[in-house]
Amino acid sequence: MSRFFSARFAALTPYTPGEQPQGQTFIKLNTNESPFPPSPGTIKAASREAERLQLYSDPDCRALTAALAGRYGVSQDQILVTNGSDDILYYAFTAFGDADHSFVFPDITYGFYSVYAKLNGIPFREIPLRADFTIDPQDYCRAAGSVVIANPNAPTGICLSVSEIEKIVCSNPDRLVLIDEAYIDFGGESALPLVNRYDNLLVTRTFSKSRSLAGARLGFGIGSKAIISDLKTLKFSMNPYSVNRMTMAAGIAALQEDAYYTANCQKIITTREAVRLELSKRGFTVLDSSANFLFAKSGRISGKQLYLQLKEQGILVRHFELPRISDFVRITIGTDEQMSLLLDAIDSIFREESK
Ligand SMILES: *Cc1c(COP(=O)(O)O)cnc(C)c1O
Repeated sequence: MSRFFSARFAALTPYTPGEQPQGQTFIKLNTNESPFPPSPGTIKAASREAERLQLYSDPDCRALTAALAGRYGVSQDQILVTNGSDDILYYAFTAFGDADHSFVFPDITYGFYSVYAKLNGIPFREIPLRADFTIDPQDYCRAAGSVVIANPNAPTGICLSVSEIEKIVCSNPDRLVLIDEAYIDFGGESALPLVNRYDNLLVTRTFSKSRSLAGARLGFGIGSKAIISDLKTLKFSMNPYSVNRMTMAAGIAALQEDAYYTANCQKIITTREAVRLELSKRGFTVLDSSANFLFAKSGRISGKQLYLQLKEQGILVRHFELPRISDFVRITIGTDEQMSLLLDAIDSIFREESK
């Protein structure tokens, strides 16, 4: 720490991203990326746009916003496009939280929520998931602060229904309810139809998972005009050009080639259910998942050991050294080939261990 660092950040522990090894040949099942590349049209659109990189990007992201408005049936002033959805989550915490406006979210959820709260000096309460790792919607009705829920939740993969989300939204008319739908394309039911009925709801989405664009950094939020306008004020007070030209072009092309991405999501769902069965056969406890990952616990070996031994065999999964979940690993669903290599590796780890 330099002697110039502001005292207000002295105690801040930043978010720990999953490992991103460069150049090695790991099978990467640790950060919920798609195992499939972007569609050919998406790649072509991005590379064509490279020829115009001498020009600033459109700070209003008009073409992409129009395409999203068409795709999701909302008006353009109900959408804000950002540099990944982490970006809009940060704006939401900053815009709607302060010392007098606290947040609530589950105790086991996306690690960035508490980081963004601390970064902004926002008091927050982490509400424990039930023992089976589900969210009790009742805990969030008439909440003590703005509500943030990842649906499906991460790293559990468990989903709330839209009617449960609606109960939460409608019991908090004077509180912001933010639903982070990073994984909604893998089987959950979206809360988007509610945004035109409730002006306190903000839904965030990302192109990182279901649309194979994690490296492009593209996310967006949909909500009431007033909420979106507040978030825009923050975006334009920080970095209006945060979505670059190539990423914007890729996003528009990805929406045009929706069928490719929908088919990939279907493949991932099919693979997920097959792997769930195989892990259960091997004695794992596997939580229900509506996402592109499984959260699983072996009865035979700790989460840390499984993570380490898989890494030794060239397979990366995610392990969280946190209360209640340290026995679990989070396994991103890859291709069928990658998943059979994973299962083979698990079998060999178990064979070694029973010797
Ligand atoms: C991956 C993820 C995000 C954000 O991803 P971006 O790449 O920043 O769009 C947001 N929320 C959850 C729960 C995630 O898992």
